[in-house]
Amino acid sequence: MIQSKGMKKFTPLIVANWKLNPGTATEAVNLTKEVVKLTKKLVGAEIVIAPPFLFIPEVAKLLGKSNLKLGAQDAHFEERGACTGEISPVLLANYGVTHIMVGHSERRALGETDEQVNKKVHAILKRRQTPIVCIGEKERDKQGNFYSVVEKQIRALTANLTPVQLSKVVIAYEPIWAIGTGATATVEDVKEMQIFITSILTKLYERKVADKVNMLYGGSVKSTNAKELAESGGMQGFLVGGASLFPAEFTTIAQTTIISK
Ligand code: PEP
Repeated sequence: MIQSKGMKKFTPLIVANWKLNPGTATEAVNLTKEVVKLTKKLVGAEIVIAPPFLFIPEVAKLLGKSNLKLGAQDAHFEERGACTGEISPVLLANYGVTHIMVGHSERRALGETDEQVNKKVHAILKRRQTPIVCIGEKERDKQGNFYSVVEKQIRALTANLTPVQLSKVVIAYEPIWAIGTGATATVEDVKEMQIFITSILTKLYERKVADKVNMLYGGSVKSTNAKELAESGGMQGFLVGGASLFPAEFTTIAQTTIISK
């Protein structure tokens, strides 16, 4: 199933962010096998699994012949050199990583800046991979100041990006207050934010360009709220954290998203 937004056709995108889980390579292999098995018959969506770096080689082997794509949870903007502890998009490409998350709030909390996020977006696009850029406010105030937080992040991530480059970027709206808390944003919250992000991108580029940007929602997505969010939230898919560690639950979310689009 394909959702149309403006001129561009969107295939729903569902991304599993395993974060720092599971605890062993054996568990990662078993988890992957189960997701591959359960999602085998799902057509009409792009499903990405983003395990911790160390599990990528093993997971890559298992995803090889499946319909699933391989993601990473971060990458550095430099290709090589004096960057202790870092992994580059090009190294990840060697294992077939097609999607790379950047700017996740858990990384921003460790010091990742808007400027670094922008550099990472450029580095990932250079390797023809897809950056999934996470943005979102810490809290919602009644005055609506949170909109300016989101606007600042969008302005930063789009710095020096051409319209063509922008059309290859995925923006994941992940309000921090909804991540891992069970406090999912309402459909209205998500729809309003989708409209707001589109309006900022329209100001920076033009409507035609803004309409080409794939947007996801992330924050306590579960099988029980995915339908409503997918049908009316205005986004093209989900970034799923906690629930992605449960293959049946994750598959139901993906299935629900496909049916709802
Ligand atoms: C995330 O970490 O990106 C996320 C959305 O987590 P959760 O689904 O657990 O809220």
